[in-house]
Parts: sequence; structure tokens; C-alpha cells
Amino acid sequence: MNLRVPGPTPVPAEVARAGARPMVNHRGPEFAVTMMQVTEQLKPFFGTAQQPLLLTGSGTGAQEAALVNMLSPGDRVLAATVGVFGDRFAAIAEAFGADVVHLKGEWGRAITPEQVAGAVAANPGTRAVLLTHNETSTGVTNDIAGIGASIRRASPDAVPLILVDGVSSIGALPFEMDRWGVDVAITGSQKAWMSPPGMAMIAVSQRGWEAHVEARMPRFYWDFTKARKNGEKQTTPFTPAVGVVHAMQEALRLMTEEGVEQVYARHARIGEHVRRGILDLGLELFADPAVASNTVTAVRLPADLDASSVIKNLRERRHVVVGSGQEQLKGLIFRIGHMGWVHEDDVQHLLDGLSASLKEARVRQAV
Ligand code: PLP
Repeated sequence: MNLRVPGPTPVPAEVARAGARPMVNHRGPEFAVTMMQVTEQLKPFFGTAQQPLLLTGSGTGAQEAALVNMLSPGDRVLAATVGVFGDRFAAIAEAFGADVVHLKGEWGRAITPEQVAGAVAANPGTRAVLLTHNETSTGVTNDIAGIGASIRRASPDAVPLILVDGVSSIGALPFEMDRWGVDVAITGSQKAWMSPPGMAMIAVSQRGWEAHVEARMPRFYWDFTKARKNGEKQTTPFTPAVGVVHAMQEALRLMTEEGVEQVYARHARIGEHVRRGILDLGLELFADPAVASNTVTAVRLPADLDASSVIKNLRERRHVVVGSGQEQLKGLIFRIGHMGWVHEDDVQHLLDGLSASLKEARVRQAV
């Protein structure tokens, strides 16, 4: 099967083998070496000098962890959203008692730096801004650097914490946490990291650590203090998904060997390849091409074609698995994942299969 959903993503054979290594004591010396290598090799991809934390859970857990470790109930939070995952970040903040101001952008477009800076200025006392770097439901990449700079220009004396969901971007798209002034950045093992699901990776700025001391939202499992203290001893507070961390150790070795810039360049090249291929088939991109993502492409189908039958045909006849549209986009789009372990052949195989599926669908309609 050519697994082309936007996560979980394919795992190279050597990474799968590493994940099947014999179990070790997560408080022993072997795991300490693994932890050290994994956290060191994550840093260039986060663009940070901070020590990333490893938490056991999925991307949604990481969203919750970012919020409960930075905020107190009643804090005003600006959630800038352009799709399902931004909305989820906002919903979790609400569930934990934040006073959420929702800045909703159009789906398929990016939220602009001016929109976010304007909303921060219009809501004095905003404690944090929630941003989605790459909105996986629409295939749009937001300009985190530009948004951060614009907020700092507009509200230099009251810069809120900047919490960024980089679940489907970090490790595939350039990310410069320290330079961009990001306070918390999160990602998950099953996306750009060529590893199975199960681990969340999080980095926190100095300012973020200071905010953490004041933050009063309830937390236990996700507590950053526990993760940091245990991290200093090269272990985790609770039993981690050891096999997934072993897999990540090998995946990060491969990514580091390829080179950070080369990993980004490969994603840019493949993103372009997919978009060109989709347009050549006479289909439309859902995302504004100026902000179309290099990790996931959302494809809009013509009104006479049903997305679920195209998805079914691709899976059953072409052995290609793509993602469906979510919420109001169900039936209108499908999504192609191209992050992590992905090369030109994989996406060309998908495009060829799609071409054949579309021809069949049209022939069926004609009879
Ligand atoms: N945030 C983004 C941007 C995502 O793409 C996803 C999953 O696709 C999540 C959060 C939630 O991650 P998970 O499904 O691992 O909980």
C-alpha cells in the first residue's frame, strides 16, 4: 500500500526494525543514550537551543500539554484558526477555562500577520496566541515568523505567549523557534518524523518556562516540570512508548544524515510535484497556492465527482490510501500526505493511480 494520508506516515524498514528492538529499562543506561541522541537531533529541526521534552501521547495530547502548562483558568487567549486543528486547539483551551477570543480565518487561506496583530491589539491583556503552523485539514501553511514579528511591532510592551502547533510541519518545513520568538512548539512522531504514532515532542522557550511557573491550569500527566526534571536524567516521568522512541532514534539518524536543509528541500520539491500533478489532471487545489503546504495537499473535486468514491477506488484498485475531507469539507475534498518518508516515485505512483481512477469514474458516469 502507498500510504498517503497526512499521518500516520510510512516508516522506513530500518526504522521499523529499530522499533522492534528488544525492550530496555526506560530508567537504564541504554535508554539514556537513546534519549540523549533523540533530543539532541530534534533541536535543529525545532530551531532551538532548548532541550525538547518527550511526552507519550498524540498531537492532541501535545496541544493540551502546551495549554495547561502555560495558562491559568480565566486567561485571555487569542485562537487564530483556519481549519479543524486550529479549532481543536481553541476547544481544548476553552475546556480548561481559558477566555478564548476566536479569530476565524477563511478555510483554504492563511491567517495574515496583520489580522493576528490587529486582534491582539484589540484584546488587551491577551496572555497567549494559539497558532497552527500547518493546517492539515486544508493544506495551508501559516507564516509564523511574520505573525510573531507583526505582533511584536503592534504590541511591543505586551507580547503574548506564542504557542504553535507544528504537528504536521516540524521536521519537514523550516521552523526557527528561537528566531521567530515561539514560546511553545509541539509535534508528533507519526508525521514528519518517519516513525510510528505514540510520542509527542515539545520545546519551550525561556519565557515559556517563566510562564509555566505561574500557570495554574490543572495538570498531572502532562506536567512540563516533571518532564524536564526527568529529562535532565535522560528519562521520562512515566513509562514512554519505548519502541517508538527507538524508532525515532533511527529515523532522526537518517534525517540528520540527509541534512536538515536537504530534508526541507525534498519536501518543497515534492510539494511542488504534487500540486503540478493535480493541476495537470484538471483538478483544483483547495488551498490558496501562495500558502499551499509542502506536507499535505487538499484537492477539490469537481461537483460531478464524489470524493468518497475516488478515495475508495484509489484504495481498492490502485493501492493508494489518501485522507478524506474533515467536517464541512467531507465529500468535497481529499487530502494527500507528503511528509516524512516520501520520494518522487511515491507521489508519481499516486498521481498515476488518480489519473486512472478519474478516467474510470468518468467512463462510469458516461454509461
Ligand atoms: N494538530 C495538527 C496540525 C494535526 O495535523 C493533528 C493530526 O493530524 C493534530 C493536531 C492531532 O494529532 P493526533 O491525531 O496525533 O492527536
